[in-house]
Amino acid sequence: MNFRHEREEVLNTAREMFAQGLVVGTWGNVSVRLPDAEGIVITPSGMDYARLTPEDMVIVDMAGNKLWGEWKPSVEVPMHLAIYQGRPDVGAIVHVHSVAASSFAVAGISIPAVLEETVHLIGGPVQVAAYAPYGTHRLAQQAVAALGQNNAVLLANHGLVGVGATAASALRACQVAEKTARVVIYARILESGLKGRSLVSE
Ligand code: 13P
Ligand code: ZN
Repeated sequence: MNFRHEREEVLNTAREMFAQGLVVGTWGNVSVRLPDAEGIVITPSGMDYARLTPEDMVIVDMAGNKLWGEWKPSVEVPMHLAIYQGRPDVGAIVHVHSVAASSFAVAGISIPAVLEETVHLIGGPVQVAAYAPYGTHRLAQQAVAALGQNNAVLLANHGLVGVGATAASALRACQVAEKTARVVIYARILESGLKGRSLVSE
């Protein structure tokens, strides 16, 4: 089993998501769909991104059976497969636990589409999928339902999932969702006003 290019794409994207602080430790996961619907390449479960090589990526078929690789695949294989099955346009998925998006996921509030790039790259607000424990089929179904035709979805009390045609665009969906979440929080703070705080008359 080769797919060297896809294994490198998955690992490079996972490293980038870690370097950008979108996850801590070994959390998060990345996958890309293989050509001809053979299966997906996905990050192994619970392993240090800095130490991984492309050979450590895992290949599973569309039923979730491991086809290739030494390690256990991500526990979120059911969610990745459910998204690929429901969305033929999706070629890659990135799942992160970034702080601002996770704050919305904890509050149970969708991230509103307040920026041009949110509308353009995500397609609308980032809805919150109802809570289910990580790695479960129930989480997979609820994530698919809340994702709809958009490119990002929040997982209640957990994190964020971005999808796209390529790993770069799935990562970008996560970055834009995280940025939008941060902007909304800052905007709400500013709306509360700075009256009377200025050191000079205005
Ligand atoms: P894995 O390390 O098994 O991919 O799990 C990380 C995670 O974020 C679970 O939701
Ligand atoms: Zn997670």
